[in-house]
Amino acid sequence: MLIGIKSNLKIITSVKDQNDYCNSLGEEGKKISLVPTMGNLHKGHEHLLSCSRTTNNKTVVSLFVNPLQFNDIDDYKSYPNSIDADISMLERNKIDCLFMPSEDEILESIDESHSPNLPVYMKTLCGKYREGHFIGVFKIVRQLLKIIKPSIAYFGKKDYQQLIMINYIVKEHFMNKIKIIPCDTVREDNGLAMSSRNNKMTKSEKNIASLVYKELLALKKIIRFDKNYDYDELRIKSIDNLSKVGIKIEYLELLSSNDLSIIQKNDTDNRMLFVAFYISGVRLIDNIEV
Ligand code: AMP
Repeated sequence: MLIGIKSNLKIITSVKDQNDYCNSLGEEGKKISLVPTMGNLHKGHEHLLSCSRTTNNKTVVSLFVNPLQFNDIDDYKSYPNSIDADISMLERNKIDCLFMPSEDEILESIDESHSPNLPVYMKTLCGKYREGHFIGVFKIVRQLLKIIKPSIAYFGKKDYQQLIMINYIVKEHFMNKIKIIPCDTVREDNGLAMSSRNNKMTKSEKNIASLVYKELLALKKIIRFDKNYDYDELRIKSIDNLSKVGIKIEYLELLSSNDLSIIQKNDTDNRMLFVAFYISGVRLIDNIEV
């Protein structure tokens, strides 16, 4: 059902209406850009919106809190929701269409006979610690791409492992016909990567969480300039430093940004540091190029 048009933002809640809208744009010769989100929009999302406005495409933003990607039911149930503020942000950014399907309809529309086959590098990092997470992301993103048929889609580098999985989906399921644009991570003034989960923390917890980014920068400096660095030793020291301020590191890895493989000491290209950590029960991720 089409529930309303506010300013120029078309708000669509049914898969059929979204299909019809996208097909009619195609018939008019217009191309579509897609920005998939789970809502509770912040400046990180807004950066993706502004990137999408650099073409003449029509921009569709999807808002769907994907139950399949949560391995913790409480995390899913407590996922922040701010629909009125989200709509205002989309209007301010002159977005053409918001697609917010019901959970039942999207889940029913998925063809379960084509179960996802993830590449081996999806078993590391978050794939190792969040069982079923990426299969859930895979199913929903593939479905959104099928319904919306964008020529371009925008994703944040903050979720880097997700980003490389999306490239894989586009290659395997869409013959590389969708262009994926990676967008830089937007940070708070203190360096903390913006995230909808930041709303679950107090100001002082956010300041403590920002120490992880500072630790990443310190590690980057050593890795780049000290040819004799010992990464295992550096990691132990960093985990120790951060545990003293109440941060529990889940993983802290130096890997290839191409395929998340372990890098050799003399590989100086395409290196990235990846981290997942907990502070007061909130799980956050971040990464930086080295
Ligand atoms: P989410 O709503 O958290 O699923 O995120 C939707 C999209 O926004 C994903 O492509 C994220 O990678 C991207 N995103 C989330 N946080 C940031 C950020 N701080 N900077 C840039 N992109 C982000």
